[in-house]
Amino acid sequence: MNYSNIQKQDPVLYEIIKEEEKRQKQGLELIASENYVSEAVLEAMGSILTNKYSEGYPGKRYYGGNEIIDKAETLAIDRAKELFGAEHVNVQPLSGGPANIAVYFALLQPGDKVLGLSLDQGGHLTHGHPMNFSGKLFNIIPYTVNKETEEVDMDEVERIALAEKPKMIIAGFSAYSRTLDWKRFKEIADKIGAYTFADIAHISGLIAGKQLDSPVPYFDVVSTTTHKTLRGPRGAIIMCKEQFASAIDKAVFPGVQGGPHDHINAAKAIAFAEALKPEYQTYTKQIIINAKRLAAKLSEKGYRIVSGGTDNHLMLVDVFGSKGVTGKEAEKVLEQVGISVNKNMVPYDQRKPMDPSGIRLGTPALTTRGMQEVEMDVVADLIDRAIANRNDQAKLDEVKQAVIDFSLKFPVPGIA
Ligand SMILES: *Cc1c(COP(=O)(O)O)cnc(C)c1O
Repeated sequence: MNYSNIQKQDPVLYEIIKEEEKRQKQGLELIASENYVSEAVLEAMGSILTNKYSEGYPGKRYYGGNEIIDKAETLAIDRAKELFGAEHVNVQPLSGGPANIAVYFALLQPGDKVLGLSLDQGGHLTHGHPMNFSGKLFNIIPYTVNKETEEVDMDEVERIALAEKPKMIIAGFSAYSRTLDWKRFKEIADKIGAYTFADIAHISGLIAGKQLDSPVPYFDVVSTTTHKTLRGPRGAIIMCKEQFASAIDKAVFPGVQGGPHDHINAAKAIAFAEALKPEYQTYTKQIIINAKRLAAKLSEKGYRIVSGGTDNHLMLVDVFGSKGVTGKEAEKVLEQVGISVNKNMVPYDQRKPMDPSGIRLGTPALTTRGMQEVEMDVVADLIDRAIANRNDQAKLDEVKQAVIDFSLKFPVPGIA
């Protein structure tokens, strides 16, 4: 990407893009929800497919001139079906939030009871936060992780489900480092006739890469973003059993959205094709190997990893509990040296969301840059040096230079 037209036409914005390129290239990206897309995905997002309006679905549009767009959308649908083994796929959701709104509206009425993992224990905003549509319109019953193991306790989920009889059970998370027992969720839901909804936004790439079990065979509906481990454009898809196909499609359009973003859906098709390749399985396997290695190295240095480790791409580090540094302070000092992470609540956190006890670290982006186990050892060292020297500016300057020198050895797709 050389942005020569932007350079000519809008030098101010050009400089902003160049600055961000430099930040991405010279820094270490450990935000668990981020990744670097391929140049082919970037090209599709920048393509003339953005010019079209195509409300409706392939073969049933409300606008003329969609015979070619239909081919692109159908390609994305077919590839997603193959990748996840889904009966039905809607590729139009603009992002994970809108996808989840459509799922609620397809299956429920406002006021209905929904069981979801508590946000302060790893769940997502759209699983019932009071400020989110989900918490405002639905009666959310949270489940939590076990205080000792810090893992979801399925007997507890079953106990709450049988007592509360929710109409839908959500399984999914944004900040949880273990796997979920999809089959058990389905068995519990069947006992009370509840719908099952899996939100695999974070781990869909690991599932597509055949590294983690999939909820698709068991669950009524599964949503995922396409831009996290899946490494596609910003967006989402909804997968479901055939019996829910029409309800889901109607909920997405006209229920929640107008015209789909055809350039983004084409980029999704490209990302799905990339994820169908054997190299993608190697990539996703390495993401997990790297996360386990990073967690082990940080543990050796005295950091407490929530639940004792990770089975996926992310970990929660209790920096306050183990080092007396708050999540906010840790995020800030790491940002100063060019390492991006986010502050995060740990289970049963005594601190507040804006300055919690933990940080969340993930390996998908660094793994895309080609980093492996030995590099994770270097990353753990850099993180520890920054946190340990947080009050010593000269030392932090040294760490910052070390981060730049190290990062520049690993190319970012799309950045020269
Ligand atoms: C990221 C995420 C979403 C929302 O995605 P956006 O594209 O940011 O709206 C939904 N659910 C879960 C579990 C997520 O992690």
